[in-house]
Amino acid sequence: MSCRILIVGAGFAGAVHARVLAEAGYTVHVIDKRPHIAGNAYDHIDANGVRVHAYGPHLFHSKNPEVIAWVKKFGEFVPYVHKVRAQLPGGAHVPMPVNLDTVNAVFGTRFETGAEVRAHLAAIAEPIAAPANAAEYLLGNIGRQLTDLFFRPYTKKMWGFELEDMAVAVVRRIPLRFDRSDTYFSDDDIQIMPREGYTALFARILAHPGISVALNTAFEKSMLCRHDFCFNAMPIDEYFDFALGELPYRSLRFHHETVTGVPARDWSVTNFTDMGRFTRETSWHVLPHHLVRDTGRHTRTREEPCDYRDNNMERYYPVKTADDRYAALYGRYRALAAAAPNIRFIGRCGTYQYLDMDQVINQSLRSAQNFMKERLG
Ligand code: UDP
Repeated sequence: MSCRILIVGAGFAGAVHARVLAEAGYTVHVIDKRPHIAGNAYDHIDANGVRVHAYGPHLFHSKNPEVIAWVKKFGEFVPYVHKVRAQLPGGAHVPMPVNLDTVNAVFGTRFETGAEVRAHLAAIAEPIAAPANAAEYLLGNIGRQLTDLFFRPYTKKMWGFELEDMAVAVVRRIPLRFDRSDTYFSDDDIQIMPREGYTALFARILAHPGISVALNTAFEKSMLCRHDFCFNAMPIDEYFDFALGELPYRSLRFHHETVTGVPARDWSVTNFTDMGRFTRETSWHVLPHHLVRDTGRHTRTREEPCDYRDNNMERYYPVKTADDRYAALYGRYRALAAAAPNIRFIGRCGTYQYLDMDQVINQSLRSAQNFMKERLG
């Protein structure tokens, strides 16, 4: 097969497409404008001997056995159950997502059973049958006090929008809990982390004789004529020179701090409920195999959200508003893309979706398989 494929972006979307197509005999060239592979999952070991995820904590979780089986072909994974604590304005730490212990801490109650918590939340929840935005979803499930404490300031810092302006889907990522369960992701998720980090995992995914990789290489339209097809994970609005306007993104500025000593604790991420600059802080050493060398120090990193234009155009989160205004703009770009021959947009920025890693892998496996079916058909 002499079909030459160009892949723009060496993150999960690009790397999965590259591997599936190379294994099927295609010749694949992957470019990335950054100096490293692994996209926003890129990690490295810092001067404290700690593995740090350069673009914020990436916790792998999935319900999809096909995705799990696929990633496990490229490296060892170890179990890691992610826990988060919310820091209250007074400094106390309580489980997040809100659970039985969180409810007791906030309301001074002494509930012992999920049924009691359920009844309490049902009594304080507002009667909202069909929530039209994130605020209504939360008020209808956990009531005003918990919404305003745990979600209102955080969401304002995170998105620059009020809860009323955000889509339900954004906060529905956080499970509702009534018992003492204090894990961050849904109970039926498989939660694992690559033993040697994400960058090493990507190196193995891309290590195939049919794949070449060029870093520090930005996409140019002239590259298209040297390839038969292009899977493109660049921002779709940028590809079309922002002809229809800009698709906005939230970005994060990272503030790293060296801390002496390596305290034992059982949660890695602290979410801040106050109205300061930061949303959360990660203590990397709590993640498995992240304390790579013992230096007697560890690293923690606070996240300060901002508009992507204020952070070197680093795009992290597509913005999902309640009125779907940006989804509508994306739809118009998608219509332009449908008319462009031999190119398909992929990944978070190509499809303007707020996706978890397993969802990107799943979509990419299907996209590459469909492409091959279409070619054969
Ligand atoms: N959120 C919040 N308070 C929290 C955690 C989350 O208000 O303590 C809201 C906020 O709007 C956030 C969304 O829930 O953007 C999704 O949170 P998640 O932790 O899934 O975000 P990610 O890990 O993708 O940054």
